[in-house]
Parts: sequence; C-alpha cells; structure tokens
Amino acid sequence: MEQNLLIYNTLTRQKELFRPLEPGHVGMYVCGPTVYGDAHLGHARPAITFDILFRYLQHIGYKTRYVRNITDVGHLEHDADEGEDKIAKKARLEQLEPMEVAQYYINRFHEAMSALNVLPPSIEPHATGHIIEQEQLVEEIMNNGFAYESNGSVYFDVEAYNKKHKYGVLSGRNLDDIINNSRELAGVGEKKNQADFALWKKAQPEHIMRWPSKWSDGFPGWHCECTAMGRKYLGNHFDIHGGGMDLIFPHHECEIAQAVASQGDQMVHYWVHNNMITINGQKMGKSLGNFITLPQFFSGDHDKLEKPYSPMTIRFFILQAHYRSTVDFSNEALQAAEKGLERLMDSYKTLKSLQPTKGDASSIQTDYVSDLRQKCYDAMNDDINTPIVISNLFDASKVINQIADKKATITEEALKKLINLFEVFMFDLLGLKNNAGSNNAEREEAFGKVVDMLLEQRMKAKANKDWATSDMIRDELAALGFEVKDTKDGFTWKLNK
Ligand code: ZN
Repeated sequence: MEQNLLIYNTLTRQKELFRPLEPGHVGMYVCGPTVYGDAHLGHARPAITFDILFRYLQHIGYKTRYVRNITDVGHLEHDADEGEDKIAKKARLEQLEPMEVAQYYINRFHEAMSALNVLPPSIEPHATGHIIEQEQLVEEIMNNGFAYESNGSVYFDVEAYNKKHKYGVLSGRNLDDIINNSRELAGVGEKKNQADFALWKKAQPEHIMRWPSKWSDGFPGWHCECTAMGRKYLGNHFDIHGGGMDLIFPHHECEIAQAVASQGDQMVHYWVHNNMITINGQKMGKSLGNFITLPQFFSGDHDKLEKPYSPMTIRFFILQAHYRSTVDFSNEALQAAEKGLERLMDSYKTLKSLQPTKGDASSIQTDYVSDLRQKCYDAMNDDINTPIVISNLFDASKVINQIADKKATITEEALKKLINLFEVFMFDLLGLKNNAGSNNAEREEAFGKVVDMLLEQRMKAKANKDWATSDMIRDELAALGFEVKDTKDGFTWKLNK
C-alpha cells in the first residue's frame, strides 16, 4: 500500500515526499538515551514520535530497519565542569562496575518503553560495543586531513572542513557565529579552534572507562558513535535520522561533518526532529526542580504531580500534539488527556456492542467510513499529523454515540469497517492500549476496598445472626475465586487466580 508520505526534512527545511533509497526498504537511525539515570518525559517524546513513524512505515509496506543506540560512554563534553564521564562518576560513587550502572538504567529504560507501548527497535547497539568502528572513523577523518592529534586526544578541524565543505548546514549556523558565541576562549587548551570537537579523548588517570588506541588510552567523543553505528548497520547512505531538536546542534551537525569528512558525502537523506516538552512553560532541568522521570509519572511520586499518570495517558498526551510543535506539561493538560483517552476507549467499547440494521438511505454507510479512513491516512501522510487522526476518531465517536442512542443506524458492512478503522488507527498505528484513566496501582487499591467493604457487611450480618446474608457473601466471593478466612479480629482474603 504505497502512500504519498510527506515528511519534514530539517536539512532542506521543507516537507518532502518520502521515497526510500532502496525500494521497499527503509533504514532509520534515532539517537537513543544516555544511560546514567532514569528516562524523563523528554525521552518519551522522541521514543513515541519515532515509534509512530516506525509503525507507519511498516504499515504502508516498507521493511524497516530501525536502529536506536544506547549511549553508555563518551557523552561528557556537554558538562564541561564535570570533566568525568557521568556513568563512570556514578560507578565510582556507588562502587559499581560502570557496566552495572549502565545495565541498571538500560533495564529501567526498557521497562518504561514497554509500558508506553513503544516497540523495540530492530537493533539497539551500544557505544561501548563499537569502539573499533569509532576508532576507524577517527582514522579516516584524520587521513583525509580534517582532524589533528593534540596531547593524545584527536579533534575535528572545523576550520579545515569549512574551507572545503560547509559546516552548519543542518542548524543554519555559520562558523563565525559559532566561534563568537562560544564560551571558550580562543587558543586555550588542546584545540586549535574553540569550535573544534573531540573525536577521541585521552583518559585522565582516574578515568575507568578507557580503551587502547594509537593516540592514547582513552575513549571516543560522543558524536562518533552515531556516525559509526549508523554506517555499520544501515550503510553509507540511509533514509532517516531522527532525534530531539536539542540534538540538531552540536550532535547532528557534527555527525554530518564526520560523515562528509570521512566518506566524502552525507549519509542521511531525511533528518527528522521532534520538538521539546516544557513544564509550565519552562525548560526541564534537574536544577530547576521540574525534572520528572517516567517512573515518577507512573507512580505519582513527585511533588509537582497531583496524581499518578498511566503510561497510556502520557502517550496520548504526546500524540495530541504534532511532533514538531512544543508541548507544555501541566497536571491539567495530563488530566484532560486522561479523560480524552477514556472517552475514545469508551467509544470503541460502544462501537463493538452496536447492532447493525438492514440499512436504508439514512443509515451510516460504507462511504462514510471510507471517507473517514481517507482523512486519517491523509493526516498520517501529512508529516505524521497524529492530532488530526485523533480528532477524526473523536468525530467518529460522536456518530457512534448517536447510533447507540438510537438516533442513527449503521449497516453491517459499515460497522465492520468502522471497527477495523479504530483497530488500525487507534491500536496499531497510534499504539494506544486500553488502560486509560487510573493506573493499575489505583485500580487495584479501589478493587481491594470494594472486597473489604463486602466483607465488613458480612461481619455485620454475622453479628446480627443473619446467616443467610453472611453465607451468601462468602459463597459468591468463593465462586469468583476469593478465599476468605475468618480471624480473631476480622477477616483476611486473597484472590486465587
Ligand atoms: Zn546520536
């Protein structure tokens, strides 16, 4: 089912008709998490955005290889003041092997992704598992004259690169501005130019994550891993590279420079970026105290949260905005999303219970459903416009309610097609699941309270010697699988299922 999918390419700054380099096959690379802490709401957005794209590409018939990496070394350049790899620092403080820290957070990341119903990628390569490939990349760049060694470290020579190619094509920045805006002083330290970035860093004596190389015992610069692993698993040229907008500069800009400096041309055809999530209009940040992790959202355990929010509420909340718009988190917005999702799930339940009629001219016919289906595809094809898909589903739920209220009728074929439309768009493509509203912990608590209430009624009945009522409650609960035991001061119960 070939569709005319339009996708916004950050590189060309316009929507382009998506056509893969190899017919029928798509290669997609997305920058994954850095694993020295729990994933937060800002991680959920790219994960969900590219999950939808992954699902849709496959739905419209492309065999898709989706690579999402794990950054478990090297991402320390951002925090210049820390000067130590964050995983290594955590390992040192907690007396753990660095890989224990990484694995712990990888496991927790996978749990959160599965709760959000984000499909696992086809390949999930680790930066630490691809040191040789990264060293090879650095060597190629050096051999081509775009990098230099300084005191055991290797830096990308941005000025040399900019003379032959243009540095800044993705972010639209030019080198002079980058140099003028840099906080670093010119000519200080190991770099020739403050815009140069590390390809290989010599490890300090206390640094525990280190590998041998011809330059020094050290570790690769952060930007190397995505270029090296993207090329290894998707080839020198591949279709889509994605990530959050915050990665456009410097990370993706540096990736482009590394690719061109090593192989002579760009690797990526379409650069796709999701916008950011703000919290009450503010950027999210540990120092701002508004940094809420996904496990905290699911449990409600954070003082900025009025209640827990189920993973599906988070997913729906994110999908209600187009991926290139900003999203502002607030408790009100999440609670509205929770209600909206509940309404949609209720409509699906109602839809499944509708009785078709033989049909006359006034009945809902297949034309209506075909038209709705086309609108949903049109929205997906228009740069993955999930909010429009959702609003079409809401329109359909009004019609469903009219039929349920006997104010309209639907033919058998139209009903079948409408159920299928909900299943395709709501479950398969948007990836929503039916656990809207309260999360499981809340449900279980409410459930327990109801059983307690019944058993308290039974105790009252026993006290009144109303054996019939007392036995009835016990027998009915037993029939449902509850084992009730009378104790000295009341009762205990468990569910044997
Ligand atoms: Zn990356």
